[in-house]
Amino acid sequence: MKAVAVWQQQKRVGIVEEEPPALASSTAAEIRVLDVGVCGTDAEICSFAYGDPPAGAGYLVVGHEALGQVVRVGADVSRVKAGNFVVPTVRRPCPHEHCPACRMGRQDFCVTGDYTERGIKEAHGFLAERVVEEERYLTVVPAALRDVGVLTEPLTIAEKALRQYADVQRRLPWLAEADDEEILAGRRAVVLGAGPVGILGAMLLAARGCETVVYSRARTPNAKAELVESVGAAYVSSEEEELDALVGRIGPVDLVYEAAGASRFAFDVLERLGTNGVFVFTGIPGGDERAEVAADAIMKNLVLGNQVALGTVNASRDAFEAAVRDLALFDRRWPGALRALITGRYPMEEFCGQAGAKEGIKRVIAVGEPA
Ligand code: BGC
Repeated sequence: MKAVAVWQQQKRVGIVEEEPPALASSTAAEIRVLDVGVCGTDAEICSFAYGDPPAGAGYLVVGHEALGQVVRVGADVSRVKAGNFVVPTVRRPCPHEHCPACRMGRQDFCVTGDYTERGIKEAHGFLAERVVEEERYLTVVPAALRDVGVLTEPLTIAEKALRQYADVQRRLPWLAEADDEEILAGRRAVVLGAGPVGILGAMLLAARGCETVVYSRARTPNAKAELVESVGAAYVSSEEEELDALVGRIGPVDLVYEAAGASRFAFDVLERLGTNGVFVFTGIPGGDERAEVAADAIMKNLVLGNQVALGTVNASRDAFEAAVRDLALFDRRWPGALRALITGRYPMEEFCGQAGAKEGIKRVIAVGEPA
């Protein structure tokens, strides 16, 4: 079978011919891969700046945003069946007994750093014709979401982030008993960046009843702005409205969902966060910028405004299940919006070219067709 690999040492990318993986355990499923999304992390992997092959392997099979169809399952698999569409989680636990996160299946909070990530860190990914995965890492996707199920993984970033936001806000005495939906409803949210993670985040915030503004560089009109507005959020170009004018116009910001990976821009916005507000970072900058920031103002506001700045990475299977439910909700509420997010489907050979491409929104590698 064909797979797409990156040889970090040799700085080479290409197709490898591999033996299809065997169903080695009774709790695993064999999966025909249908779609694999490409993202910023893949661009870093393709430029050899990030990512590591499995121990002893000369290359890394890439791809971590996957949708597949189950071909066959081991004797002890009960939740997924042949024919089901499924999405795998990305991170696998570290081996250490003393890691409380990994020992409870929450490797997204691994404390040792010895976790692996399929398609990213020391574990082969999903950009292959066939993969094998343990049932506990799989989430079933309804057949009606076959075209958009590949968006599950990028949506999990927002699912985890909003849960973190709600958990943090339960610190406020009047919200101590509130559920996540009550905490989110009516909040003023600013999303930084209009890539797939930003737009999916804006959809989730809008669906939860937040007054949502996506703040991004590109001037209007543009296709991303149109998509954002079609889901009831506002789009503002940072070239067309300055930050102070924006905050002055919309009022105190309760939540910033950062999805641009641009550090200076993020700290400029952090300086304008509202009282009791939470700033959630999700982007991973690729560079080493040492920018001048309003350090005193930021620190003063954090203290006097009881603010929180937090980072969030990866997501657990709970977040994947929530993301699948929310994709179905988005599809009912805004027919066509999710499909408009996927701006192109390409063959396996084009993975790295598409990872580095700037145009479009979400680019997907079409690996196979359902049986
Ligand atoms: C993936 C996460 C992963 C992170 C860091 C992101 O692109 O979506 O699953 O944890 O990269 O490697």
